Amino acid sequence: MADKYEQVIELAKRRGFLWSSFELYGGTAGFYDYGPLGAMLKRRVENTWRDIFVINEGYYEIEAPTIGIEDIFIASGHVGGFSDPLTECQKCHEAFRADHLVKDIVDNPDTLSADELTEIINKNNIKCPECGGKPGAVYEFNLMFKTSIGPGGKRAGYLRPETAQGMFVDFPRLLKFYRDHLPFGATQIGKAYRNEISPRQGVIRLREFTQAEAEIFIDPRDKTHPKFNEISDVVLNLYSQAGQAAGESQKMSIKEAIENGIIAHEFLGYCLAMTYQFLARVGVSPEKLRFRQHMKDEMAHYAADCWDAEILSDRFGWVEVVGIADRTDYDLKAHAKQSETELAVYVPYDNPKKIERFTVKPNMGILGPRFKGKAAKIANALKALKPEELSGDVIELTIDGEKITIEKDAVAFEKVTEEVHGETIIPHVIEPSFGIDRIIYSLLEHSYFEEEAVEEGEEDKTRIVLRLPPEVAPVQAAVLPLLTRDELVKPANEIVKMLRKAGILVAYDDSGTIGRRYRRNDEIGTPYSITVDYQTLEDGTVTIRDRDTMKQVRAGMSDIADNVCDLIYGGKSFEDSGRRV
Ligand code: AMP
Repeated sequence: MADKYEQVIELAKRRGFLWSSFELYGGTAGFYDYGPLGAMLKRRVENTWRDIFVINEGYYEIEAPTIGIEDIFIASGHVGGFSDPLTECQKCHEAFRADHLVKDIVDNPDTLSADELTEIINKNNIKCPECGGKPGAVYEFNLMFKTSIGPGGKRAGYLRPETAQGMFVDFPRLLKFYRDHLPFGATQIGKAYRNEISPRQGVIRLREFTQAEAEIFIDPRDKTHPKFNEISDVVLNLYSQAGQAAGESQKMSIKEAIENGIIAHEFLGYCLAMTYQFLARVGVSPEKLRFRQHMKDEMAHYAADCWDAEILSDRFGWVEVVGIADRTDYDLKAHAKQSETELAVYVPYDNPKKIERFTVKPNMGILGPRFKGKAAKIANALKALKPEELSGDVIELTIDGEKITIEKDAVAFEKVTEEVHGETIIPHVIEPSFGIDRIIYSLLEHSYFEEEAVEEGEEDKTRIVLRLPPEVAPVQAAVLPLLTRDELVKPANEIVKMLRKAGILVAYDDSGTIGRRYRRNDEIGTPYSITVDYQTLEDGTVTIRDRDTMKQVRAGMSDIADNVCDLIYGGKSFEDSGRRV
């Protein structure tokens, strides 16, 4: 029997959600096309994400190029270290991820070096999974697609492996846009490219995929969140470091998790809650969702805390779909160094602070006669010294490459009190990073059901239904005249017009039995089917059928657009949309 993945992909291909790219030429692993329904579903999922991150949180969206210059990826570490360990079969020349080949033999194979992996493969006599040949020595394969900018091939460019760098590089402009106030965030939804070694997991591992990322710049001294109270009681399925050691996840409110030191701080907790709310809203089953904390040896050395949202899939088990990390000041420091530009924020104090400090007063009566023309330069160098540099018996300076020793009697110290109005800090970055394609696949899988049909003439057949939330369903309403007679077709067309005017994507379908038409719409997730019958001509009402319950109500035709909009977006219950039939 076909597994769930096969069932979902079969439906996805047949009904125009998604299929392998370049099919005409035999296809290439790691690339998928979204068809007419898939592209619309994806837009709606992305727009739900926008609703949460851009509209509700105010993290404006930007759009940076998908090709980046080399400096960016030197700073980010991608040129140096964005690689996976590769081994090639010496017989059939198939390439494999070496860490995947040894995953049943060692724990955490992704923490091992190429040499260690080669040794494990040899020692355990691991064979090529394709032909049984011997895998060659493991080496690190950089996953970025490299290209060149302009003719001549002199200037390297890379297809971006993540959208995040766009926000880091634009930090100075964004800081101005947000009028120098922390916290602020910027988002981007767009393509990312990774030359994955051997993507054998269909839509789960792609070479071109869509990310939705937010980079939120916060004051490192204050990781609370102004709206924390709104989400503090949200209960999440947490698979913490301790939980993983014990082999079990735990349901816990975010507040409790922070109080117990499991989630590092409020801001991160808030991002976990936003992630949960988004995933549930677009149709991921909450009981198939968990948040897994990175183990210590898996977490980037600079990260303060890091969680992955993982979704349970029938074939692939728990799949990471979102990464949520406190990246501290790592990215801004790296780009500041590479670009030789200060990337920091001046944060004024609420009340100015008085601080005492020592200043050095050079004694020109001694320095002048002794150092003559150099005395002024030496005096300036002395003034720039910090108190801790003055602790020895003598002061050592280097002026114009010459080492100079100065006795303590040539300087005096003065204690001054200064009023300080603020300080310059490097913001920390909280990054929720969503893989949209994995989310699309997951919600298709979670909303796919096969059940008995009840419609007339269809009773003995299996009904396939996609229980997509109405907000993300690609086609939002179907309009079906009971018969293809002019007197029914005419009002049906009027309804189509009214719904389109209200921004609803409608399918008009008049071919085949009504049961067939309902089923055609059920399997693409159309939440409401509106049927025009002879009663419509008598009293101006139509039936609305609910996809999930197959129940029907009769409702007025004249305000059908408002009614359907309220059902899709306004949280109106189906029972309230008309009179039970
Ligand atoms: P990362 O930057 O590796 O943490 O990735 C962020 C998110 O992008 C992950 O949680 C995935 O959902 C998604 N992602 C990463 N690599 C791929 C891929 N090869 N194909 C599809 N989605 C991916």
